[in-house]
Amino acid sequence: MKSENDIKFCSLFADKISTLRAGGKLLKVCFPSSMADLFMISDYIKENGCDYIITGKLSNILVLDGGYDGVVINTKNLKGIDIEENLICAGSGEKLAKVVNMAAERGLSGLEKLCGIPGTVGGAVCMNSGCFGADMSMAVEKVYLFDMNKQERVVKDKKQMGFAYRKSAAAKGNYAVIGARLELEEKNLYDIKNTMRSVIAVRRENQPSLPSLGSVYKRVGNTAAAIFIEGAGLKGYRVNDMEVSAVHANFIVNKGNGKADDYLTIMEHIEEKVYARYGIKLEREVFVVGKRA
Ligand SMILES: Cc1cc2nc3c(=O)[nH]c(=O)nc-3n(C[C@H](O)[C@H](O)[C@H](O)COP(=O)(O)OP(=O)(O)OC[C@H]3O[C@@H](n4cnc5c(N)ncnc54)[C@H](O)[C@@H]3O)c2cc1C
Repeated sequence: MKSENDIKFCSLFADKISTLRAGGKLLKVCFPSSMADLFMISDYIKENGCDYIITGKLSNILVLDGGYDGVVINTKNLKGIDIEENLICAGSGEKLAKVVNMAAERGLSGLEKLCGIPGTVGGAVCMNSGCFGADMSMAVEKVYLFDMNKQERVVKDKKQMGFAYRKSAAAKGNYAVIGARLELEEKNLYDIKNTMRSVIAVRRENQPSLPSLGSVYKRVGNTAAAIFIEGAGLKGYRVNDMEVSAVHANFIVNKGNGKADDYLTIMEHIEEKVYARYGIKLEREVFVVGKRA
């Protein structure tokens, strides 16, 4: 039986590592760097019947202030970037921005519209993150996964990944993304960099710079969730130091000492008010874990 000594667990506070700068204690965090580590961790989880989550940079996960006592598999040590012609193999723990920049430097197109997304490659694959009409699935050729139940390495091609809007086969939590092979297209380096510059400019103008988890809700059909939140009169709605951004209503921002529990209170308020006003049930893009303080 695997003991806690076999796996080097540590405790971390979400407010120190999440892009929201808020959240409680993650009691059992581990940082696998190999298949052997993933095997050992999945063994431990099975034998002890633990809950677990797989995380990248925590730019889309709200950890409530009472903390989370399941196992947190943080993928930041699953590293490596290998570029051969128009193919990039990247470990899931690599920062997406780093891969986007490396591709641009080589005149490889397909990722440039994703610049400014703060997470990891694994998070972006799992969420099929995207913006400005592009998403991760458009660049993915293959994904290397670890099946947490069967405890084996699996390779899935783009089709098998079941990519859809902010969804993939990895989103159910049964698979850890180990890495991805991206197939890009050779294009003019200056055009790629120009696209990146305009994407960054649009983000600066339309999105808040305060700590957040990005968009809280998914689009409703083709309509941005922000339209409904703003229409329900919630722009600027505040609970202590958490606030529905005055810049973009689909962001909840931390204005200083914001609490994760207040973020959730605001989410619940938004959901209630938008339903009352429009009869629409907003679907969360942000994942909520742990318990309230
Ligand atoms: C300022 C800001 C702007 C943003 N803009 C955008 C945007 O334009 N478009 C967009 O789509 N998102 C955006 N986001 C949200 C977020 O950055 C993305 O969803 C990002 O890809 C998540 O990556 P992460 O590494 O932080 O994942 P996490 O937040 O750690 O995890 C997100 C989800 O992915 C799963 N996951 C993470 N890593 C793995 C792995 N290796 N294997 C299996 N599952 C995994 C987690 O279990 C969770 O379900 C933004 C966030 C912020 C703060």
